[in-house]
Amino acid sequence: MRKKLIAGNWKMHKELNEAYNFIKSLSKEINEIKNVDVAVFPPFIDLQIVHDTILENKIAISLGAQNMYYELKGAFTGEISPKMLKSVGVEMVIIGHSERRNIFNETNDFINKKVKSALENEIVPVLCIGEKLEQRENEETESILAEQLTNCLQDISCSNPNQIFIAYEPVWAIGTGVNATPQQAQDAHLFIRKLISDIWNHDIAKEIRILYGGSVKPSNAKELLSQLDVDGALIGGASLDAKSFSEIINIAANITK
Ligand code: PEP
Repeated sequence: MRKKLIAGNWKMHKELNEAYNFIKSLSKEINEIKNVDVAVFPPFIDLQIVHDTILENKIAISLGAQNMYYELKGAFTGEISPKMLKSVGVEMVIIGHSERRNIFNETNDFINKKVKSALENEIVPVLCIGEKLEQRENEETESILAEQLTNCLQDISCSNPNQIFIAYEPVWAIGTGVNATPQQAQDAHLFIRKLISDIWNHDIAKEIRILYGGSVKPSNAKELLSQLDVDGALIGGASLDAKSFSEIINIAANITK
């Protein structure tokens, strides 16, 4: 049984007071939920206050970062290291988000270095992969997913399925309001699980959690999260509002597969 993870990627949203208010509101909505893991990924500037507010309100939310560099310290202006993230209580980090790949030109090779560094520093990477619209239309979805996953996980071993998450995020579904159909999501997740079995082994593939991301909202969460191989969601837009985020968490908590 894979426990679902509902993760909110705030992207470049929320100043300090907004971050504080969000966690206060969320803590009232999800206090009773035990069978779903919840994580938020605020901008770097908000990490400390979100960490403190989580502790103050005694809520079970994991703290994640949206990015990191793979070196531990040095002359890397504008970057942040895994050790710095750990010092403010970060447990997870999104790596390879399509916005980083497409706007900031991150390659699979670069992403591979970050995944390695996160693991070495005991931060759980949420590795994002996904095809663009024209690649789906050209029936290249599986080859793109295979190329991204294989290269991003090159020379990385895995003995514990909880040390990493994979997020399937079709680029055409991110921030567009157009989600993958539940069947498209299920097909991609099953394909990714088979790839994981080839890259690592069957036991890891059975246990690893694969999240779906791309225009998840309260109105489509039930159908998407009910798919056999969909183990949670990485949510952008709908995670910015404590009410809609908690609605999705509650939907996840009530799904029994
Ligand atoms: C994301 O940022 O990873 C994402 C899936 O965004 P949205 O939910 O807004 O499509």
